[in-house]
Amino acid sequence: MGLKQPKWLLNPEKRLERKNSFDASLVMGTANFNRHTGRQNTLAPPFGHFLDHDTGLLKGEYLTPRNCPVCASPPGQGLFVKDGFRHVRCPKCDLIYVSLILREDLMLKYWREEEAWTNVLLTGPQVEMDRLKYAYGLEVAQSHFSGKRVLDIGAGTGHFVRLAGEKGFEPTAMELNKESAEKLKEEGIEVIVKSMELADLESGSFDLVTLWEVLEHLTDPKVVLSEARRLLSPDGALLILVPNSASLVTRLLHEKSRTFGGHSHLNHFNPMSLRTLLDDLHFEIVEFETVITELGAINNHLAFEDPYLGEANPFFEFLTPKMIHENLWGSRLLALAKVRNDRDASGKAS
Ligand SMILES: [Zn+2]
Repeated sequence: MGLKQPKWLLNPEKRLERKNSFDASLVMGTANFNRHTGRQNTLAPPFGHFLDHDTGLLKGEYLTPRNCPVCASPPGQGLFVKDGFRHVRCPKCDLIYVSLILREDLMLKYWREEEAWTNVLLTGPQVEMDRLKYAYGLEVAQSHFSGKRVLDIGAGTGHFVRLAGEKGFEPTAMELNKESAEKLKEEGIEVIVKSMELADLESGSFDLVTLWEVLEHLTDPKVVLSEARRLLSPDGALLILVPNSASLVTRLLHEKSRTFGGHSHLNHFNPMSLRTLLDDLHFEIVEFETVITELGAINNHLAFEDPYLGEANPFFEFLTPKMIHENLWGSRLLALAKVRNDRDASGKAS
């Protein structure tokens, strides 16, 4: 499969139209989308019973401390505590992250057995929006890599690998959740039920590695991305979609934003910290943009309504999808990167 460059890709208006087609708040309205995808059922903090009511944090025996997972600096300024998890901002690379995370065994158990969020991902409106989003990402990626072998890390319910298969790619799913992995296997999809570090895959065996909303969940995103780099063919590409902590919606809502929930979202990247991470790992960024505005939540908040269930009308005329994405203020960052060959893995010039 050679490089493909669809016409809309270089036409800013058409490209924005494509983005808007999977922006749920624009397509079906925020409250409507949240109700029909059952997001309200996912709001109870799953580790509330581990709370120490004196400190407001989870009890120490359940937690592991960590430094900034991008630049290894010690935890900087504390921002807020949510659901018992302390969120801090790295003074050096600007990453917002959870500095005391769940113990590894508890986290693994959670991911193996998680159901509430999986149920959201299986609802009709969610699948519809996700498939359009995946198609968009895949078409953006296709203009930068050739080959067919795709590895989707954290494949979840498998809607991306299914779509990639339909488009003629040879997808492999990596997924730790037992039930999701079983379902994919039954469909005849290649599934690896191991973490990246333990999977023992051959170098250069994939042409595209994708992480759709996965990086925010990882204790050590560097380890997983370094491994992704090793698995990529020389002309391969890495596609990342991750929540944007510098999005307009997150800047307005702060800890009220549903992107913050410390048991599963451990890292909150913004354009600076994501670029730093990719650069440190010898990737060259070839596409960098935001998608999904969450304009509905923004308008609701500005009108003093519940951001996720309100039905407020647009508040400021100047707040448009175009303006939001031009400033990288969308709620997700989409980055496509290629392996940079200017240095070896130790960072020395070659
Ligand atoms: Zn840092």
